[in-house]
Amino acid sequence: MKQQRHAILYITTPVLCLVLGFALIISQSGLPLDPRPLRLEALSASAQAEQTGGFDVLLLRQEEESPLLTTVRDTLAEMRLGYGESDSLSADALSRYDTVLVCDSALPALEGEGAVTLLNWVNQGGHAGFLCVPSVDSYLRIVSHKLGIMDGGREYREYNGLRVMPGVLDDFPAPQPEGFDELLQSQYGLSIQGFFRNHWWPDMKALSRRLGLRYTGVLVETYNKQMTPPFLPDTEDHALIRYYASELLQSGGEIGLHGYNHQPLCLDGWQYADEDYVTWASEENMAQAVEALVRYGRSFLPQAAFTSYVPPSNYLSVEGQRVLLRTVPELSVISGLYLPEDGVNALVQEFREEADGSISVPRVTSGFSMDDYVTLVAAGELSLHGVFSHFIHPDDVLDVERGALLGWERMRDDFTASLEEIMAAYPALRWCTASEAASAVQRYDRLGVTRQWNENTLTLHLSSFFDEAWLCLCADAMPSHVEGAECYPTGGGCLWLRATQDTVRLEWEGGI
Ligand SMILES: [Zn+2]
Repeated sequence: MKQQRHAILYITTPVLCLVLGFALIISQSGLPLDPRPLRLEALSASAQAEQTGGFDVLLLRQEEESPLLTTVRDTLAEMRLGYGESDSLSADALSRYDTVLVCDSALPALEGEGAVTLLNWVNQGGHAGFLCVPSVDSYLRIVSHKLGIMDGGREYREYNGLRVMPGVLDDFPAPQPEGFDELLQSQYGLSIQGFFRNHWWPDMKALSRRLGLRYTGVLVETYNKQMTPPFLPDTEDHALIRYYASELLQSGGEIGLHGYNHQPLCLDGWQYADEDYVTWASEENMAQAVEALVRYGRSFLPQAAFTSYVPPSNYLSVEGQRVLLRTVPELSVISGLYLPEDGVNALVQEFREEADGSISVPRVTSGFSMDDYVTLVAAGELSLHGVFSHFIHPDDVLDVERGALLGWERMRDDFTASLEEIMAAYPALRWCTASEAASAVQRYDRLGVTRQWNENTLTLHLSSFFDEAWLCLCADAMPSHVEGAECYPTGGGCLWLRATQDTVRLEWEGGI
C-alpha cells in the first residue's frame, strides 16, 4: 500500500475569463483592425499523448448507477484521481488503493468479515469515507468505534475533496434600443444609446485597462425572426456597431459569434422549456443564417477569426452545433452554461474537449452586482478549477430584475470591487478571452497525472504535458522544496503550482 498522506492534489487551470457580449450590428466596409496574437496558443487535435494514471480510490458500491456515483465519478475525474469500482472487499484488492469511498447505504461487502477487512486496512494506514449513512449491522457496529464512527447515524469520516465546479460565458447583445429609459434619462439626461456611448462603454474600457480584462463580445446581426433565406441585413445601426467593434478589439478583446438573429439553432420539434423562440425548418436554413452572420462580420472585420460562439439564451441543439462547426471552419470554442437551471433545457457543459473537436468553455457566473449565491458559486469554481468565467449583459442596466435600480455607478463599483477581491485572493489568475480560455482547457483536459511517494517526497509525472500545466495542492503543510513548478499560495492551506516541465518534485523536509 502506498504511504498515506493528507494531501489532495488536483489540476486547475487558472483562467480569469470575462466575456462581454455585445450586439454588434454592422455592415459596410471593414475596419483596419487585426486581432492581437493569442497569449496561449491552441493545441492541434493530433497533439494527444497517452493518458496515464494509477488507481487512488476504490468506490465500493452495490448499484452500478446512482446520482451519487455519477457525482463522485465526475469529481474524481476532475481531480485526476484514478479510481476503481467494486461491490466486494478483499485485503488483496484494497492493497492497490489509498482511499475507499463507500457509496451505498446497504452494502453486503461490509457485512460480517468485510467490516473487519476494512478495519484492518484502515489500521494499516488506509483511508475510508462513507458518502452516505451506512446501515449498521452487528459486525460494523462492533468495529465502528475503531473506524472512528461516533454515531452510527451520521457520516463519520469526511472525504476531503469532493467538490462541485461551476463554469461561465453568455450571450450579450442586442442592437441597442433607440429612445429613452426613464431611469437613465433622469440620471444622465441621455438616450439609451447616448448613455452606453458616453458612460457605460468608457467605464468598461477604463476597467479593462486598469485591471487587464480581456472582453469577448459576441456578434448579432439583427433581432428579426427571419427563419428562411435570404438572410439580409436589416439594421441601420452601422456606425455604432463599427465603433464598438473597433473599441473592443483595440482594448485587447475578441469578437465571437452569437447569431444572424437571436433565434437559437434548434430545429422544428425542439421544445423550449421556458422561452418563446421560433425553430428552424432545416439544417440548411440554419447554415445559411450562420453564413450570413460570418459574411456580415467579415464586412467590417476582414482579418478577424471567429473562433468562439455563445448560443442565444444558451440554447443549442446537437444539429445546431454540427451546423456551426461545419459552416465556420475556424470556430471551435462553444460557451454554454456550467450550472443547469431547474426547468431550463439550455446547453450545460463541462470544461473539456468534445468528440466533435469543439472545446467547451462554459460560463459560471453573471451580473455586475454578485450576490451571496453568485459569490459562493464563483468561489467554488475558483477553488476547484481555478476559473472565473463570468458574463455580463450590457442591458442589465435597463433591467430592474438584473439590478437596474441600483444605478449604473453602483453596479460598476460592485463589479470592480468583486474583481479586485478575486484578483487579490488569486494573484496567479490571468485574464483572457474565450479563445485563450479554450487553449487552457485543452491543456487541462489532456493532462494526465501519476503520483509517486517516497518518504517525504512526492513526485508528479505529467503526461500530455505541452508547455505549462496548473495543479492545486491542499495539504496540512506546504512543501519546503519544489522542483519543476512555480508556486502560488492561495491561502487556506492550498497552493497553485504552475508546472513548467513534465516532472514535478515536492519535498516536505519535516514530513507531512
Ligand atoms: Zn443574446
